[in-house]
Amino acid sequence: MKKDKILVIGACGQIGVELTLALRKIYGDANVLASDLREEHDLLKGTGPYVTLDVMNKEQLHVLVIRHNITQIYLLAAILSATGEKNPLLAWHINMQSLLNVLDIAKEESIDKIYWPSSIAVFGPNSPKETTPQHTIIEPTTIYGISKYAGERWCEYYNHRYGLDVRSLRYPGLISYKSAPGGGTTDYAIEIFHEALEEKTYNCFLKESTYLPMMYMPDAIRATIELMEADKSRITVRSSYNLGGMSFSPKEIAAEIKKHIPEFTISYEPDYRQQIADSWPQSIDDTLARNDWGWKPEFYLEKMTADMLKNLPATLQ
Ligand code: NAD
Repeated sequence: MKKDKILVIGACGQIGVELTLALRKIYGDANVLASDLREEHDLLKGTGPYVTLDVMNKEQLHVLVIRHNITQIYLLAAILSATGEKNPLLAWHINMQSLLNVLDIAKEESIDKIYWPSSIAVFGPNSPKETTPQHTIIEPTTIYGISKYAGERWCEYYNHRYGLDVRSLRYPGLISYKSAPGGGTTDYAIEIFHEALEEKTYNCFLKESTYLPMMYMPDAIRATIELMEADKSRITVRSSYNLGGMSFSPKEIAAEIKKHIPEFTISYEPDYRQQIADSWPQSIDDTLARNDWGWKPEFYLEKMTADMLKNLPATLQ
């Protein structure tokens, strides 16, 4: 039997750090090669092999895959929604070319499995807002959403045309305390915890009533690993699965934080990110993920808030 050798690209980002550590626990430290443009993240140091890699450099990526006998690739490098709006052509270029480089090398080298995340940003203002279905109107209006939707089509194409085992999830906004977020519209739901602990007040860049689909990082990591470990026969969606966790507004999360920090106050000053948030769903229908490979979230607002406030202080010192 071939031994799994995993390459994580974008391993120093918000998801990459935690996913790399989780994969190392399962597959063994030496079998998970972490890579990123950036310097190695402090939390990864001493936990396993690390290389600097620019995924846009196809030749460098190809050599790395061959040299390390890679059998699975997790591609996490991307330009996120809010950052993408500042430089749309760059976001399109990086988000598309990184995926095409990985898919093409994976095909050529017969890589066993590929993971690439999509996002709820594929949905647009004409999609149903509540319990947004897997298959519905998809007309994204951000360059990030457009690149994710195009990416989904490429993933399905490589699966149908070449039999490549590509798997993908449409993550909601992800909330975590270990590594910093990378410039998304849902980052407010992380900033609010930092400011609540340090300043006891937060000025939110979204309106108080803006509901968005969200997920706590432990659920997102578990979903990713459960999808990747599911038997091939159970994967019926080869574009990207809708994935649901919780849904709340800035007002609701502020009220939940206030239960722990009574003096906490929040104010609202919506900026350009309000328009992005308004184009997205408020909640997600993830029936297919639940039925196909048994997805079930464990964290909702109350449990997540308590866990964030318990664990975040240690990372702020
Ligand atoms: P992030 O910005 O925190 O991390 C991305 C990492 O990729 C960074 O460490 C960056 O240095 C690296 N990177 C950028 N360009 C690179 C390049 N050319 N070569 C190699 N590495 C490069 O992002 P994240 O939040 O960890 O997101 C990971 C993936 O999940 C992305 O595809 C993102 O679109 C998707 N996603 C994230 C969220 C969320 O809430 N965080 C939600 C939906 C989807």
